[in-house]
Amino acid sequence: MKRQFPVNLPEGYVDFFKNLETWQNEQQAKLKKSYLPVEIDVLKVLSNTNKPVLQSIEFPLVEEQYKEQFKELLQFLKNERPEITGMLEKMQKNIDQLDFNQLILKFLEADDSYFAETAALIEVTADILIFTVDHSLRPFLRTWAEPYYARIAEDEFKSWNFANICPFCGSRSHFSRLRAADGRRFMFCDQCFTEWETRNIYCVHCGNDSPDTIQYLTVEGDLAFQVYTCEECKGYLKTFDERQKGDKTDLFIANIETVYLDIMAQERGYSSHDNG
Ligand SMILES: [Zn+2]
Ligand SMILES: [Zn+2]
Repeated sequence: MKRQFPVNLPEGYVDFFKNLETWQNEQQAKLKKSYLPVEIDVLKVLSNTNKPVLQSIEFPLVEEQYKEQFKELLQFLKNERPEITGMLEKMQKNIDQLDFNQLILKFLEADDSYFAETAALIEVTADILIFTVDHSLRPFLRTWAEPYYARIAEDEFKSWNFANICPFCGSRSHFSRLRAADGRRFMFCDQCFTEWETRNIYCVHCGNDSPDTIQYLTVEGDLAFQVYTCEECKGYLKTFDERQKGDKTDLFIANIETVYLDIMAQERGYSSHDNG
């Protein structure tokens, strides 16, 4: 499907993320071959702890295996983004200075100062270091999360009360879909691909559920992609309404492709409340 963008995305921007997702799918397929799911009653864990699963259950991550994946991502990026070869080569050269267990831990804790210091040490920007740690970790997160997708999606808000936080990995979500069959809303995590249900007329940031102060915006001619806004907290949430197309879409790519909705919402004074 080719969509006309009301704003111009940089040349190759969406294709880059499509290729990245394909690379991640391939990595995940390899990881799955030797992965034995951790047996847990995931809904019980959530309601007992009130924390994302990843914070209370240990998942097996072999540092060497992660390091290999990180190296492969650097190679992928060199092919896809030749303009940043210089920084990628610095990371390749200094890879033994990186403590991968710490990088993962600090990434999950969103410890920006750790990344600033480590990036300075190997003379790259913190952004590129965070990007590579993040995207090489995602195939692991998805492998771990996948056995629980169905249970979490069926939960009907009983075990998890934080609508905009992923119950599996703890990332903040910016995207939801309205299911074709019944219009029920599911939040989507683009890190581990978990989905969880949330109320329909409801602000996922502040809990406001008054229909008068929750509205949605669309771009003319494209009703399937919507942005819900809340007058109470000035938050917004992007949404794909499957009922408009009668079909599913790749939500990871949809989130990337709809940067114009972020711009539209932000120009009107709404925020995705990324900083808490
Ligand atoms: Zn997640
Ligand atoms: Zn709100």
